[in-house]
Amino acid sequence: MRAVVTGAAGFIGSHLCEHLLSRGDEVVGVDALTGFYALSYKRRNLARLLGDDHFAFRRGDLLDLRLEPLFAGADAVYHLAGQPGVRGSWGAEFAVYLERNVLVTQRVLEAARDTGLGRLVFASSSSVYGDAEAYPTPETLAPKPVSPYGVTKLAAEQLCETYRTVFGVPTASLRLFSVYGPRQRPDMAFARLVAAACGHRPFPLYGDGGQSRDFTYVGDVVAAMRAAAASRWTGVANLGGGCEVTMRQVIELLGRSTGPVDVVPGPDRPGDARRTAADITLARDAFGYRPRTDLRSGLAAMVRAELASQPGRHQAPALTPLAGTDRYRHPTEV
Ligand code: NAD
Repeated sequence: MRAVVTGAAGFIGSHLCEHLLSRGDEVVGVDALTGFYALSYKRRNLARLLGDDHFAFRRGDLLDLRLEPLFAGADAVYHLAGQPGVRGSWGAEFAVYLERNVLVTQRVLEAARDTGLGRLVFASSSSVYGDAEAYPTPETLAPKPVSPYGVTKLAAEQLCETYRTVFGVPTASLRLFSVYGPRQRPDMAFARLVAAACGHRPFPLYGDGGQSRDFTYVGDVVAAMRAAAASRWTGVANLGGGCEVTMRQVIELLGRSTGPVDVVPGPDRPGDARRTAADITLARDAFGYRPRTDLRSGLAAMVRAELASQPGRHQAPALTPLAGTDRYRHPTEV
């Protein structure tokens, strides 16, 4: 397939490009290299891709770029570019969220409409649900975001649905649930936690640690994105990891390999839902989604990557499950 990936220098985008290249696809990556977090992360992500003859990079802002020539001839466009993070989306910063999540998506959809794309895969978010009324949450539940970020992701997703219904643009909006893995954005909880634990530094925890998430491994997410693009299915689907755990449980599990984590409790941050858990039946039936990486293996991959980035440290100890429980074993793992 010929693919265009927006947000290619970001956390999930760079993993997606690697996955597509490994499957023999031709990939054009687009990214503005925004300053949401240090550019060194994005440059490092891109450096992994630039040596591949089947990868081309175009630096630019999707608000300005001429998108039609970029999309012409592509079988799939994966639209991941955006302004992530719930906590920073309040106040004056909202304008940036509106621009990068809503206005950009509308431009992408206009270009997709004009070029007759095979598939447009959009990275939506579990944050559209807010504090949901049922768990695991199915797509049929009315979304009620609790952050301005969630509002912009929902607006973008609704735009995808509108262009799909009115103009037949073949959009597949995937609601990603707390994606983690090596190269995770430095503002996200797992990246901060693993860096603190491996460096034996204190970890500032937002809230009481009882908040739970359906953590989803990045390798499962990017494989699902390609599977969705290759299928005939269009619409909106959840992509969760299939295993809901609290932050306290994650900290305890990680401490078994790195040594106890020194947790510094702090207040809740407005915009964080108390709980997320995905019903993934639709994604399974529509394009064969089955998350394969359990939390223990995914966290171990992050620890290995973190230690490899520290001079003089090469070996990560194994993560063991909590005694007498299979809590961290994924249901599909035998
Ligand atoms: P990221 O910040 O690492 O990647 C986003 C990339 O988009 C960045 O490299 C940024 O430079 C680029 N970008 C932003 N605005 C742009 C513009 N106008 N033009 C061109 N490039 C632009 O974030 P991520 O964690 O990899 O998330 C990727 C997508 O997935 C985002 O849309 C996010 O909302 C969504 N998502 C992420 C998660 C998660 O857990 N990481 C969960 C749900 C949804």
